[in-house]
Amino acid sequence: PMPEVKGAVEFRNVSFSYEEGKKILDNINFTFRLGSTIALVGPTGAGKSTIINLLSRFYDVQEGEVLIDGINIRDVQLETLRKQMGVMLQDTFLFSGTVMSNIKYARPDATDEEAIRAAKTVCAHEFIMNMSNGYYTEINERGTRLSIGERQLISFARALLADPRILILDEATSSIDTRTELALQKGLQGLLVGRTSFIIAHRLSTIKNAHCIMYVDNGSIVERGTHDEL
Ligand code: ATP
Ligand code: MG
Repeated sequence: PMPEVKGAVEFRNVSFSYEEGKKILDNINFTFRLGSTIALVGPTGAGKSTIINLLSRFYDVQEGEVLIDGINIRDVQLETLRKQMGVMLQDTFLFSGTVMSNIKYARPDATDEEAIRAAKTVCAHEFIMNMSNGYYTEINERGTRLSIGERQLISFARALLADPRILILDEATSSIDTRTELALQKGLQGLLVGRTSFIIAHRLSTIKNAHCIMYVDNGSIVERGTHDEL
């Protein structure tokens, strides 16, 4: 059992195939301590999402080990693991209900004050207050009345309220305007503090702010370093 995840993440000699004979990841090694922000970049089909799939145990590693705080994640109950992990995929999942209930999705016991504090930290408060009924505005299932940036900000608030040690974010590829980009950049900074984050990064601002960029190509990490180093 893993009583409390602190958030150090290690891949040790990890190789993986979805289908026999077709290696997708080939001997991946890295160690990051709690609080690191890691940007995964590289061409399509390189293996970025696969790395994330193994970390969240969407698939089990076949060769090598994935460790969190030194413990092989195979030895951790899936439920315990998932509780400590916040996963935000490209298509932000919103459901019909109020903005408030969407923020509280993973923490229904949270108070409205806590939810609002989370929204403020990720810079979502202002746009929410500009909606017809503020936090109690009803939104529909896909959040179609909201822009991509607004949907992402709500998902940031939701993730912050859930407070996972490890955060996984697959950034949307859709083009956004400069103002939205700045809002998301600011919001993301509020969310990243104190956790270990793996971001499949498409925005330059995210890449610039990462502690480490890993360039994945053809199943290997071919380069790593900060934006200034690479
Ligand atoms: P993108 O930038 O397009 O999202 P990626 O770097 O995330 O690419 P992956 O999704 O990790 O790439 O895919 C790596 C390789 O694994 C690709 O060749 C892909 O076709 C293959 N692959 C991904 N998922 C599966 C699956 N569920 N079953 C079989 N092959 C898969
Ligand atoms: Mg991918």
